[in-house]
Amino acid sequence: MKICRTVEELLSNVNTLKQSNKTIGLVPTMGALHNGHASLFVRARKENDVFISSVFVNPVQFNNKEDFEKYPRTEENDIRLLEENGCDIVFIPTAEEVYGNEEIEEFHFGELEQVMEGIQRPGHFSGVANIVSRLFIWTMADRAYFGEKDYQQIAIIKDMVRQKGFNIEIVPCPIYRDEDGLATSSRNMRLSEDARKIAPKIHQILLNSFRQKDNLSINQIQAYVEDEFKKIKEFELEYFCIVDDTTLQPVKQRQINQGIVGCIAVWLDGVRLIDIQRYW
Ligand code: AMP
Repeated sequence: MKICRTVEELLSNVNTLKQSNKTIGLVPTMGALHNGHASLFVRARKENDVFISSVFVNPVQFNNKEDFEKYPRTEENDIRLLEENGCDIVFIPTAEEVYGNEEIEEFHFGELEQVMEGIQRPGHFSGVANIVSRLFIWTMADRAYFGEKDYQQIAIIKDMVRQKGFNIEIVPCPIYRDEDGLATSSRNMRLSEDARKIAPKIHQILLNSFRQKDNLSINQIQAYVEDEFKKIKEFELEYFCIVDDTTLQPVKQRQINQGIVGCIAVWLDGVRLIDIQRYW
């Protein structure tokens, strides 16, 4: 596996590969890699001639300085996990290398960003689009893999690809969970032992709401989930939104054949956890 720390090194490797018509699959990450990331690596490895990943804690997508500073950094481990998963090239730049003196571009995503993470984390998606658009250009990837845990992010990235006219396939990948149902996340390692035992309730509550979906209205699903979280004092629910699976706009009543997803952000032990549940 080649470790590239500069754009120049990355470009020179990618140019050689593209000259021999290799297909390239990209998995962008912020490191602190876990089995959730690895499930994306397996896909990218299998579906492309070349598998490139990036490890970069992107400062411009954090609107909370403390969250950025506390974000776990485990480079040695990350390199090992990538190697084990057959990664060909990993790009590990500094913020200076990525942004230098260049102006940060401002992206707008209309109603896609006027819900959920877009409201709670102003500027977050513009920051994500800044790094991901650069990675798409530098890696010349044919496909890029993203986890459905960050459901809204996938819609935003598809829209960024449309705005920029990039020729790249965005591949959404299912959430990988620990055995007890908790969606794996780099932030999970910040949970205390006690909090870690409570955290799987997030998925359990959502799953219970899913099992009752045919007997409940959308409002009742909403109320059920909110009530269940109120019963567990350790949780502070930030949002639970039941939305159209493409437009991400809140749904009050389901139309025929409409795809619907519930997206949640919840605080536990000072850690912000997100998850989703598809209903239809
Ligand atoms: P991150 O390093 O948290 O920015 O995540 C990098 C990519 O891995 C994103 O596309 C995430 O959605 C994805 N990812 C993170 N955790 C999981 C998980 N538990 N299951 C599937 N994909 C995940």
